[in-house]
Amino acid sequence: PGRLPPRDGGTSAPVPAPSDPSPAWRVLLRYMRPSWRWLALGGLLNLVSGAIGLALPLAAKQLVDDLGADRPLTDVLLLMGVLVVVTAGIGPLGEYVLRRTGESIVLTARRRLVSHLLRLRMSAVDQVEPGDLMSRVTSDTTLLRQVTTDSLVGTVTGGLTILATMTMMGVLDPVLLAVTLGVLLLAGTVVRVVMPRVSRASRDIQKSVGAMGAALERILGALRTVKASGAEHREEAAIHGAAEESWQASVRAAKWLAVAGHTAELALQVAFFTVLAAGGARVASGLIDVGTLIAFLMYVFTLVPSLQGLVGAAGQYQIGAAAVARIQEAERLPSEPQRPAAVLPAPGAAPAELRFRDVRFRYAPDLPPVHRGVTFTVPSRGMTAFVGPSGAGKTTLFSLIERFYEPTSGSVLLDGRDLGDWDLPELRAAIGYVEQDAPVLSGSLRDNLLLGAPGATGEEIRRVLRTARLDDLVARLPKGLDTLVGHRGTKLSGGERQRVAIARALLRRPRLLLLDEATSQLDAVNEAALRDTVAEAARTTTVLVVAHRLSTVTLADRIVVIEAGTVRAVGTHDELVVADPLYAELAATQFLTATG
Ligand code: ADP
Ligand code: MG
Repeated sequence: PGRLPPRDGGTSAPVPAPSDPSPAWRVLLRYMRPSWRWLALGGLLNLVSGAIGLALPLAAKQLVDDLGADRPLTDVLLLMGVLVVVTAGIGPLGEYVLRRTGESIVLTARRRLVSHLLRLRMSAVDQVEPGDLMSRVTSDTTLLRQVTTDSLVGTVTGGLTILATMTMMGVLDPVLLAVTLGVLLLAGTVVRVVMPRVSRASRDIQKSVGAMGAALERILGALRTVKASGAEHREEAAIHGAAEESWQASVRAAKWLAVAGHTAELALQVAFFTVLAAGGARVASGLIDVGTLIAFLMYVFTLVPSLQGLVGAAGQYQIGAAAVARIQEAERLPSEPQRPAAVLPAPGAAPAELRFRDVRFRYAPDLPPVHRGVTFTVPSRGMTAFVGPSGAGKTTLFSLIERFYEPTSGSVLLDGRDLGDWDLPELRAAIGYVEQDAPVLSGSLRDNLLLGAPGATGEEIRRVLRTARLDDLVARLPKGLDTLVGHRGTKLSGGERQRVAIARALLRRPRLLLLDEATSQLDAVNEAALRDTVAEAARTTTVLVVAHRLSTVTLADRIVVIEAGTVRAVGTHDELVVADPLYAELAATQFLTATG
């Protein structure tokens, strides 16, 4: 769990070849490019404040020298005052600019990732865990701020500051610089051991957070079934396990971070006392003056935190690189092209004509074929019913029409044009689809209806509500169409959900209406009413139904009997009862397809 499988979509879809994952820094630079001016400004401000930090020890040396020479101190004190005030202004400003820019980078990355995820091919959706994807959008992107600003910009400015500091120290006293570097090298070896462990732990943390998201999503999405199965304890253990993995990784990181932090502190103390002792001896022998020693010590206090910052930046980079890898993994999942939304067909647009020509299809190369050469034609207008045993491939037929998947071979033609030649939004705009077990989304009833037809007028909504037999329900609800449904709202019954889904599809004035067991949960009265609606719709549009009740199927102009991925027979009810034993048997039991 927590890993996206690298295998491709599995269908014959033109999946982009999985390109070599770029190194994290190159990806990061791509994220940073649009904001490079702000990043440069922030970096520059940091450099200025670093440069002032370098000037302060020199001013201190001047102060001590002037004290010794009995010169007036006003000038140098004034200078120091100005420098301190300027740093006080520039420091926070630089930090603000960098943080702000970093947050913009996070925003851009999130927008890109969300746009991509919403357009994933269904074949990719079949292979990922929603909870894990969610953690990539919410948690992993957050880390981009630190890695771009603190780590990449910080390394440049910090590196320059360190070079300048060491230059100044070398100019002041090369011998003391050598002493300082000796102490710091010792500390450096400790850090070299610690940092890789921190970064490994950080990667584990992100991964376990993703796994926890996936586990939570699994349970919270099916809480009724979990409760009814009495499975809380076992499922709880799984999530606790993921949480515990995250805890363990955090503890590992904490251990090494504690060591690293205190190593730096220790290095500072050791460096300070060593330089003080060695420098004191050099002052005593007259090799340097007191002012130089004081300035040098001040530089030690600048250098160590700068080095510590650089090491921290390297750690940050490792963490960020792990996040970038997870974001990239999600971005490389095959998606549909991003096209502008298409307008819905005008009222009275011509009904569509549909043709399947020797369509073969399997969901993945390692799965058995679902369709083994399906051929049929649906003329424009009228109602065509698909019947056949559960698992025969009826729902998959509709998936192919919506181009959620592409046929492995053969072709599907709408209005004589291969679906592959259609603009995808335009194709879907022509279709109204009520999927099997169509969901109601959280939000108001109105949101649910307008999902597929945002421009529908009040009059159109009222008409569709009547047609779908929802007007009574809406009248009963205290807030009518503005009643919240789905999560955190009024729960709808199975039949009500189906009627909402039908209304949603009808509002699109589809040229082709696909109803997949859309009335399976309706009571007899509602079913009869909707049967009239469907028959009515079939007079002006092309209607395809996967129906489960004989009463609906007998109304159809033609019935296509599907079994094991092939078309067994096509005809009217009266013809098929005589001609096809399977149909006759299904008809005799009154229920033509089992739900599912
Ligand atoms: P029907 O609607 O006729 O009951 P379906 O079209 O839903 O049948 O399913 C046909 C076959 O394809 C079944 O064996 C089912 O398990 C399989 N199948 C359906 N959806 C997927 C999917 N997304 N990935 C892999 N196999 C699937
Ligand atoms: Mg089905």
